[in-house]
Amino acid sequence: MNLDEPEHIRILRDQLRRFREEEMPRAGARQWDRDDHFPRDVFDHLAALGVMGLSISADYGGAGRDIVALVVTIEELAKRSLAVAVPYIMSACYAGMNIMESGTEEQKRTLLPAVAAGKLLFAYGMTEPDVGSDLASIQTRAERRPESIIVNGAKRFCSGAQIANLILTLVRSGPPTDRHGNLTFLLIPPDSPGVRIEFIESLGMRGARTTDVTLEDVAVPLSNILGGIPAWNRAWSQLAGPALEVEKLSVAALALGIGTAALDDAWEYSQQRRQFGKPICAHQSVRHALADAQTKIHAARLVLYHGARLADEERSCRTETSMAKLFVCETAKDVVLACQSVMGAYGYVAQVDMERYVRDILCTPIIGGSSAIQRNNITNSLGLPR
Ligand SMILES: Cc1cc2nc3c(=O)[nH]c(=O)nc-3n(C[C@H](O)[C@H](O)[C@H](O)COP(=O)(O)OP(=O)(O)OC[C@H]3O[C@@H](n4cnc5c(N)ncnc54)[C@H](O)[C@@H]3O)c2cc1C
Repeated sequence: MNLDEPEHIRILRDQLRRFREEEMPRAGARQWDRDDHFPRDVFDHLAALGVMGLSISADYGGAGRDIVALVVTIEELAKRSLAVAVPYIMSACYAGMNIMESGTEEQKRTLLPAVAAGKLLFAYGMTEPDVGSDLASIQTRAERRPESIIVNGAKRFCSGAQIANLILTLVRSGPPTDRHGNLTFLLIPPDSPGVRIEFIESLGMRGARTTDVTLEDVAVPLSNILGGIPAWNRAWSQLAGPALEVEKLSVAALALGIGTAALDDAWEYSQQRRQFGKPICAHQSVRHALADAQTKIHAARLVLYHGARLADEERSCRTETSMAKLFVCETAKDVVLACQSVMGAYGYVAQVDMERYVRDILCTPIIGGSSAIQRNNITNSLGLPR
């Protein structure tokens, strides 16, 4: 397929393809999924490729901001395992993007070189037991004292909290009457006294296990406000900035990687499996299913990388990144289910990767703003009256 990608992106894809084959074998990916395990040694080797710094300027030890390359990296890793791809997002997107966009000079100087070295992962502590899509309703409270901030509350589905160095925690820092105004982002180390982490068993997206995080009288210094004291009560504008555009693209890139892997496997399988005296790819219904899947993946790729290019050029792209999140995740879900069907019973058993692709893809339309929320974003940003 002619993707018209620049030379440095073709080299990056090739480098990541070799990394996948050498460091992320299929058997390993199956085991990480079964054990819900984060392979830190593989992650350390990945960091040595220099891809952790793709959201970080060279002044802070990064590789220079390159959102297209960042998205390519997520896609290539997701073709094999979310146990590596999701921690990559926790580092390059969650930590790198947020500190670059909203950190103080001191936070940038101390934290960003660690992100670029693959030594600093953020977990996102946004969702709560009673709050999902409507983030402006969060209830976790932060009380500011002269020397510290005391936090009480509960975060739910905080993925990777146990492997993260810091939880980027959205807290209510004033009366809830000002829904968007009284919100602050705090950087909370997961090993702080008063933090309790409990695992939630989930269908897929294993490796960066999702968790419940309870916060009881957790004390953090004022220097742990993302953006410092001037950013107290300013989380809503930080949340709606470029890091959100990249978050939407990052989930879409996961979906594209999973969808592409499912298609490659079904394509190969259709040539090996014989029924009624010929390979199943010679049966028209299978050929057409695979033709549709190829076309959908191609379209998804175009939408995703168009959004990534706009974000890279720091152009306005709220609508396009929501379209990418919506279209790529829903399309890849359709593709994976169609490919599972091509593989018949062999798409439904644990020893075959297709079964994992199905479990993993189902998460992508939910996380990072559900498909319904992206539809709302698209109609709102295009000015459709309500
Ligand atoms: C495996 C996994 C990992 C996750 N990791 C994280 C993480 O690391 N950090 C984190 O903070 N969260 C995480 N989440 C939570 C995720 O971000 C939320 O699930 C998501 O925001 C949706 O919230 P909800 O599931 O509570 O659904 P709800 O908001 O309760 O929505 C339920 C349904 O109603 C629809 N809906 C809600 N509001 C509207 C509306 N205004 N218009 C139309 N439809 C609407 C939704 O689309 C959905 O279909 C994770 C979730 C999962 C499953």
